[in-house]
Amino acid sequence: MKQAAKVAFPIPNSEHYHYRIPDDLKDLVGLGHRVLVPIKSRKAIGYVIGLEKPPADIKLKDIIDVLDEKPLFDKKRLSFFKWISDYYLAPIGMILKSAHPGGLGLNLNKVISITEQGKSALDSEAIDLTELQILSALSAGSLPINKILEIVQGSTNASINKLKLKNLVQTEYTLDRKSYLKTERFITSTDKSRNKELFGIICKKRPAKAKILEFILRNENTEYPQLKEVFGNLSGHLKWLEENGYIEIETKELIRDPYSEMKITKEKPVELNVDQKLCLKEIKSASNSKSFSPFLLHGVTGSGKTEIYLQATQHVLNKGREALVLVPEISLTPQLVKRFKARFGNQIAVLHSAVNESERFDSWQKISEGKIKIAIGARSSIFAPFKNLGIIVVDEEHEQSYKQEESPHYNARDLALVLGKIYRSAVVLGSATPSVETYSNFLKEKVKYLSLPLRATNSTMPRVEIVDIKKEKNIVISEPLKKAIWDNFSSGSQTIIFLNRRGFSSVLVCRACGETLECPNCSITLTYHKSDGSVKCHYCGLDEGKFNKCLKCGNLLIEYGIGTQKVEEEIKQIVPDARCARMDRDEVRGKRGLIDLYNKLQKNEIDVLIGTQMVAKGHDLAGVTLVGVISADMSLSIPDFRAGERTYQLLTQVSGRAGRGTKEGRVIVQTLKPDNAVIKFAAGQNSLSFLQNELKLRSALGYPPFAKLVNIKFTAKTDSQTSGIANTTRAIASKLLQKFPLDSIEILGPSPCPIGKIKNKYRWQLLIKSSDPKELHKFTKGLQKALRHAKFAVGIRISFDIDPMSFN
Ligand code: ADP
Ligand code: ZN
Repeated sequence: MKQAAKVAFPIPNSEHYHYRIPDDLKDLVGLGHRVLVPIKSRKAIGYVIGLEKPPADIKLKDIIDVLDEKPLFDKKRLSFFKWISDYYLAPIGMILKSAHPGGLGLNLNKVISITEQGKSALDSEAIDLTELQILSALSAGSLPINKILEIVQGSTNASINKLKLKNLVQTEYTLDRKSYLKTERFITSTDKSRNKELFGIICKKRPAKAKILEFILRNENTEYPQLKEVFGNLSGHLKWLEENGYIEIETKELIRDPYSEMKITKEKPVELNVDQKLCLKEIKSASNSKSFSPFLLHGVTGSGKTEIYLQATQHVLNKGREALVLVPEISLTPQLVKRFKARFGNQIAVLHSAVNESERFDSWQKISEGKIKIAIGARSSIFAPFKNLGIIVVDEEHEQSYKQEESPHYNARDLALVLGKIYRSAVVLGSATPSVETYSNFLKEKVKYLSLPLRATNSTMPRVEIVDIKKEKNIVISEPLKKAIWDNFSSGSQTIIFLNRRGFSSVLVCRACGETLECPNCSITLTYHKSDGSVKCHYCGLDEGKFNKCLKCGNLLIEYGIGTQKVEEEIKQIVPDARCARMDRDEVRGKRGLIDLYNKLQKNEIDVLIGTQMVAKGHDLAGVTLVGVISADMSLSIPDFRAGERTYQLLTQVSGRAGRGTKEGRVIVQTLKPDNAVIKFAAGQNSLSFLQNELKLRSALGYPPFAKLVNIKFTAKTDSQTSGIANTTRAIASKLLQKFPLDSIEILGPSPCPIGKIKNKYRWQLLIKSSDPKELHKFTKGLQKALRHAKFAVGIRISFDIDPMSFN
């Protein structure tokens, strides 16, 4: 039997199927091509993920068409996709879909046409008004489905399906080839137009044309829209100028760059200090060795990590290889992008989440063709189609946003290591506050440790003071912070006020002693459910019922939370003349808003910046000398075993904003728990002690990195339906557990998620935990399979989150 194509589909829960390759397509179909194939009664686009002998006893259908001239991926890339598919338990077609920008220029259209029977039904009385309208619209010719829904009032997919069942219409799928390559007309002058004599003649005879020509002579390679903006409608003139040989009009591909509006001046590498030199040397020799070499680059804020990324990238480039730089959220890191652009100019692709599909397609194409050798972007950039990666940088490797919260739930930081192994590249995980996982990988000698213990410029680390907010009259802004804000403003320096707010779940805090309620089984904060006043653990499902007194001192527990607006009002009372700005997701929309605000800060047009998590990220502002932290405890109480780690990271990051210039920085941390170890370690700016302490805790409680977790999430329309499925799954899981070694796997829950309802869907979760990754993988895979056989009603979603980073 001849070889058949194994085809995967970008459809949830889909499997892959074999298709026969017809003779006329034989030389065109290969690994990595997209093909159009019949599937049930439809047509679908799929990816060829293999060529192999098909199973003997199955009659194969034919591939209808090949859609790509060149393959989208090769064998090496495919091994990466397969790894992800297997590890994160997601169909490979879904991984391929995530890895390739939307459609890559292709779209499948559903087209409806009227049948002979349909034509005669136009006069019949057995159809309703909507159906009649649809049929008459179609009698003039077939229409794409979205067109029908648009033009015929009251038409729905259901009404079209009814017509189809009655054989009055038929559907067909056609392929829509979009051209994403945006082109523009560029206009240049010819030698003839530069001839002074001739120019003099047109000036006299055709003054309007002469003006346009003069403009073109001054601005060579003018884009058409630019001319149009200056001269209005000018196509007649241009046509004349072209026909008479004065100008040439050429249609060229436009290179679009979402960061083009940013003002960037070219920058040269700086002379590295001793510590930096040592780090760079290690990374360089690792990348020269062409073997997989992972590093943890632990450098305090402002220690010059970025400079190392830049110089390492240059080195890799010089060796003819490629560099991928991952950043947590690109819109929050305009400065890093700016510095890469300043160093590498147009050699770099910025893969921004706000760029549109065609821009993304552009970058993808250029990287794939090897025309662009550096890319910087957020987590999905891990899929940039490089073929010769010399280095992968993951900046702020501890950041949660590397984890994709929707399916497929991959973690780009972890995938960077997988990719590095496949391409034999250096992988640099950089952070001022390394994640517990990465630090533990260093202890296990899986990654090498590089350290930058000092700031690169002469500035020192800021002084951190803790204020016990329980002892203060005003819980929003304490007396010491008030005074510091006033002093700082008076001396002409800038202040950042950081509001630690995690908007999702409610926790109850004791105003008197600062305690929160904790689950005795799981050592995580219990969540307060506003709807019925109950207090629950959403790891193990413990339900404490209604509870409102502090266990320690008996005082009433209160819901704790302060908004940026409230803080702004109070600040205005302290320093009425200060120019304040707020930075949070409600205030700052899109990349422009952020860049504007950032520029204002740099130009010293803002005195006090008030913001949430956004202000903590990578700004390098020399004028900021005071950072105030309003509610350090909020993130400490999030119901998550990583609450301590997150708080530690946040406080360190935000403190790092202070005193980057010549003046010393000062940080004031307001807290209900001044004696908490995390707060103390953060104030002492001692990462390694924090990490060692945290590892002890995790080990004692059996949390990652000493165990692995899988969080199964259930969503459905009603609470009882959702809890029902969660409980059924629990029962199926318990049965499956009997086939596994005793105590190798632990099942926790089910329990409602802290955010119990999103978009009218109820949410529950079930947590699986094990210290044996292999057994856990086997178990989860088995459970997934068992659930596929248990037929649940439509509208129910079950998703498997491997290595969950949040438990919302
Ligand atoms: P990080 O990425 O660790 O926060 P950066 O690379 O942004 O640190 O460096 C912080 C500041 O120090 C930047 O303004 C940078 O230009 C400067 N810097 C970095 N390396 C050096 C050096 N070797 N000498 C002088 N200044 C440096
Ligand atoms: Zn619990």
